[in-house]
Amino acid sequence: MAKRRFSLISILLIGCLFLGVYVAGVGADHEDNLVGQVNDRGKLTVSFIDVGQGDSILIQTPLGQSMLIDGGERGQGERLLEYLRKQGIDKIDIMVGTHPHSDHIGGLIAVLENFRVEKVYLPKVTHTSSTFRDLLTAVKNQGLKVSTAKAGTAIPLEGVDTVFIAPVGDTYGSLNNYSAVVQLAYGNKSFIFCGDAEEESEQDMLSSSQGDLKAEVLKVGHHGSSTSTSDPFLNAAAPQYAVIMCGTDNDYGHPHKETIEKLNQAGVKIYRTDENGNIVFSSDGNSLKIETFRGSGG
Ligand SMILES: [Zn+2]
Repeated sequence: MAKRRFSLISILLIGCLFLGVYVAGVGADHEDNLVGQVNDRGKLTVSFIDVGQGDSILIQTPLGQSMLIDGGERGQGERLLEYLRKQGIDKIDIMVGTHPHSDHIGGLIAVLENFRVEKVYLPKVTHTSSTFRDLLTAVKNQGLKVSTAKAGTAIPLEGVDTVFIAPVGDTYGSLNNYSAVVQLAYGNKSFIFCGDAEEESEQDMLSSSQGDLKAEVLKVGHHGSSTSTSDPFLNAAAPQYAVIMCGTDNDYGHPHKETIEKLNQAGVKIYRTDENGNIVFSSDGNSLKIETFRGSGG
């Protein structure tokens, strides 16, 4: 009997212990999952915003600055504004339009019309589309001049190392290869955001970067198209995580299965905006945390 009572007490104690751990766990999770408001103060947060077939990436630095790389199609503008407002963003310190295609720069026009933007980078290449013309007008209306995005140019953000590693050349046949590619490092974690850069630009990055293309997180070039993510480039970046930004059932068949197979073979964990919605990485410089959610959050 005494033995049985002892067992009962043990079970109760163990039960309480588990409950305690469970409650602590739930508490921590809850704190970490303020869905829709993703930035923890003092941490780097990188949101790959689901804008369908297109790119839009919001970077919030540990010191509270923000960088927006691309804005999706023009029709995504409202959604993008909503996402930025949910983050409590009142100005964009750095805006980058990777290249003049509408699935990258379209939504930036609404951002320029609604937020204070401190600095805008575009690669030195023009396009005859009305979207590109309207973007330049919106930049001018903010009283800004375009700064040129090119390899080797450091981006003035505090507390993180951010630099353009492409475009390296200035005579590419395809607009995609003029894509501004950003490499960002915080502590021992680094990210590369490829825009729509294809193999030719990847080769130029490889030959000009002195081998320093390592990145834990790779925003895969050109929506996972087989034109990008060449073997040498993937080997040099050697990412743990790949992010593919593309729309459900898009007209281009993105991502191409060659790219998916290549990433799988290299043991890279893949996140996709068409399957996961918004993909948010946060880091204290040592570890990476990944969350995904649909919609604008909040
Ligand atoms: Zn694109």
